[in-house]
Amino acid sequence: MIFLDAAATTPVRREVLEAMWPYLTGEFGNPSSHHSLGHTAATALAGARAATAKALGCRAGEIVFTSGGTEADNLAVKGIALARRAADPSLDRVAISAIEHPAVEESARYLERVHGFAVDVIPVDRFGQVTEEALAAVLAPGTALVSVMYANNEVGTVQPIARLAPLARARGIPFHTDAVQAAGWLPLDTGALGVDALSLSGHKLGAPKGSGALFVRGRLRVEPLVHGGGQERGRRSGTENVAGAVALATALTLAREASSVPASAPASEATSEAPASEALARRVASLRDGFIEAVLAGVPGAVLTGHPTERLPSVASFCFPGTSGESVLLDLERQGVVCSSGSACAAGADAPSPVLLAMGIDPEIAQTAVRFSFDSTVSADELRQAAAAVRTAVVGIRALGPTS
Ligand code: PLP
Repeated sequence: MIFLDAAATTPVRREVLEAMWPYLTGEFGNPSSHHSLGHTAATALAGARAATAKALGCRAGEIVFTSGGTEADNLAVKGIALARRAADPSLDRVAISAIEHPAVEESARYLERVHGFAVDVIPVDRFGQVTEEALAAVLAPGTALVSVMYANNEVGTVQPIARLAPLARARGIPFHTDAVQAAGWLPLDTGALGVDALSLSGHKLGAPKGSGALFVRGRLRVEPLVHGGGQERGRRSGTENVAGAVALATALTLAREASSVPASAPASEATSEAPASEALARRVASLRDGFIEAVLAGVPGAVLTGHPTERLPSVASFCFPGTSGESVLLDLERQGVVCSSGSACAAGADAPSPVLLAMGIDPEIAQTAVRFSFDSTVSADELRQAAAAVRTAVVGIRALGPTS
């Protein structure tokens, strides 16, 4: 099987499993317990918090561990907006981009439905990017929070976060970014990005599902969504998932280290002065470009979706007019290639993707979308085979006619 669905999830890395194993077995203590098992767990949690903070260039106290990306996004959008409005009732609007993951979009809609907020949607251009002008146009005196994702999960488009965030912050508006897909591929320094909050999910980068974190800058207040024993400095109650936190921290650390560069990488990359993750990202981006070229050359009428250059190294997404995304997906699986017809997060949805519609893609064409996403071990040979399989699938489906 050639697995090209890493944006949906990744297997747990061996090093990650080894790092978390003790906290699932012998060192199983509750970090709040006042005995040695508890202290060991608390020390592990503190270490994981420090390592996560290092990966994000922030302070340990600014990390809130969560049950994944969805919870981190919920806590950011609802928690920050509600806390700000509690302090100033005139802050009753949130601004989100038109291509957010449902974890952000639905959190904003909840604020609208239940708490009477207005939701301002920031449009994107045909490549799926938010421009500075588009963001500036929606900012209002009542805006409590802006949320624009770092990299899109369906088309891989990367947003110019470091240029967008200052526009909000200059007006005193906190800026959140969902970095779930960016982690492992793009720089995560929260200072350089200029963000006030940033969401992460472990299972996109070799940690288990159900692990994640939210960075919340300094004294920015967050109304907790989960109430109880006051863990995570009162921002997220519940006995901490120590093993999950250790796993996330280990995966983030590995993504920054030389061990991320596969042994097969050219020596010049492995010894490069640039951080290993940059060398890795370059290697995968060049494989991605070769794959895109092969698909566009091999499949007449294929359309690349998302930004031609400002995109995740790991994502190639297309529309194949004259097919349906689902049928291409099934045919590819028969040929041993696993990918996605859009985003796994909108499980079961067969309506055209709101992300593609927001980019101005015709609904009929949007139904033909297929996403290929790679992890760090992807090889040129796999992508050559996959490109050939795509051609076979699309040509075969088109030959069967429009109802196929
Ligand atoms: N945000 C983005 C951009 C995602 O791609 C995903 C998952 O696909 C999530 C949030 C949700 O993360 P989790 O699966 O950890 O809840």
